[in-house]
Amino acid sequence: MANDLFGTTGVRKVYGSEFTLDMAMKLGKALGTYLQTGKILIARDTRTTGKMVVDAFVAGVLSTGVDVTRLGIVPTPTLAYLTKKMGFDAGVMVTASHNPPEYTGIKFWHRDSMGYTSEMEKELETLYTSGGFKVAPWNELGQEAVLGDAVEKHIVDIIDHCDSEAINRKEFKVIVDPGNGAACVLTPYLVRELGCKVVTINGQPDGHFPGRESEPEEETLQALIHMVRKQGADLGIAHDGDSDRGVFVTETGEVVRGDRTIALLAKTLLKKEKGSTVVTTVDSSKVLDEIVQKTGGDIVRTPVGDIQVAVKLKELGGIMGGEACGVFIFPSFHMAPEPFLAACKILEMMAHTGKSFGVLVSEIPIYPLLKTKLQVANDKKKVVMQELSGILPKEIDGIQDVITVDGIGLVLDDGWVLVRPSGTEPVIRITCEATTDDRVHEILDSCEQVVRKTIASQK
Ligand code: MG
Repeated sequence: MANDLFGTTGVRKVYGSEFTLDMAMKLGKALGTYLQTGKILIARDTRTTGKMVVDAFVAGVLSTGVDVTRLGIVPTPTLAYLTKKMGFDAGVMVTASHNPPEYTGIKFWHRDSMGYTSEMEKELETLYTSGGFKVAPWNELGQEAVLGDAVEKHIVDIIDHCDSEAINRKEFKVIVDPGNGAACVLTPYLVRELGCKVVTINGQPDGHFPGRESEPEEETLQALIHMVRKQGADLGIAHDGDSDRGVFVTETGEVVRGDRTIALLAKTLLKKEKGSTVVTTVDSSKVLDEIVQKTGGDIVRTPVGDIQVAVKLKELGGIMGGEACGVFIFPSFHMAPEPFLAACKILEMMAHTGKSFGVLVSEIPIYPLLKTKLQVANDKKKVVMQELSGILPKEIDGIQDVITVDGIGLVLDDGWVLVRPSGTEPVIRITCEATTDDRVHEILDSCEQVVRKTIASQK
């Protein structure tokens, strides 16, 4: 089914039943045909299917006469950054991000280090479906090369973007949990280069993800929390499978939501560049708006997804962007998520202020957040969401903005609501935040009633 080849970002499917090597080769042919000429960079995360999928994809690309350079296992940000730095025409990451180990996928990156937008993906999909691929003759096939020091190149440039001397002097103790994903080859070495004492858990690259589930969140990071406390460490750093996300743990073992970390980092950046714009998604805490506005900056919200944030950052010339799930984008470096620089910026802030991460982040308030989910048959989700996009905004007070790409997001004066159909389960999820307990319950109750009624009306 070609019309659902691409999901929110890139292709992400279960290997075998939904994704085959034929598809990988055809996608390679489609990309080569799309580019017509030039060279691409390709890398993969630690998934068991990764090498095979890369091989099939590369065969497809070479058959169109486009050159390929392979990086092996590296984090997604390394692939995206080097695509830009080394002048490749596209970057390709074979990954299924934080999905379970049986998934595989392919994500595309533009030469400026930004992910392919849905318009670019659509063009690729049209080519993929048409099957009208460019076929290079035997003596004009693409050439293949291997680049061995990608991670070293990336690390050198990350360190250039922070005050490494200040960090070095502090000799922080850091626990790294790459979750057996691609960051195994980068984060422990980066942090060591900064003079930190590093202890790594789940540190062997392993596509079975034996250590923990790939999505870094409080429930999956119990071993890291325990280790940070036990070792008396200054910071814990965790990543997802392809390491475009970073989640940080304080010295007391608190897992800090990404939106609070963005608020902390943006505050420092905005002091130097007043009046700049910070971009985040609809589901980030209102506390971020308050901190950014108080520091003299503007905040802009987009639908969920790191590409959406990057597109807006580029359009507005923003200073920083990110998502609550642990995405951090620094346009002065590149346009892809950069959890490694975020980690360095936290260490830098600790070094400059003499305060612990926990103390720094305690200056950012936490507002009450509530979630619920309502059962709805998969085949009814679409029509229910369509109905809701008309009804829901009329039922809630204090609406500043309505964002209806990929779910319904309502930005309120004193909070926000996100209503999204699950991609994997027969449920619609409602998440909301407000500045007080009473208000968050009020918002959730009103939304739940409207969604429940709409589902009932479709039966
Ligand atoms: Mg990811």
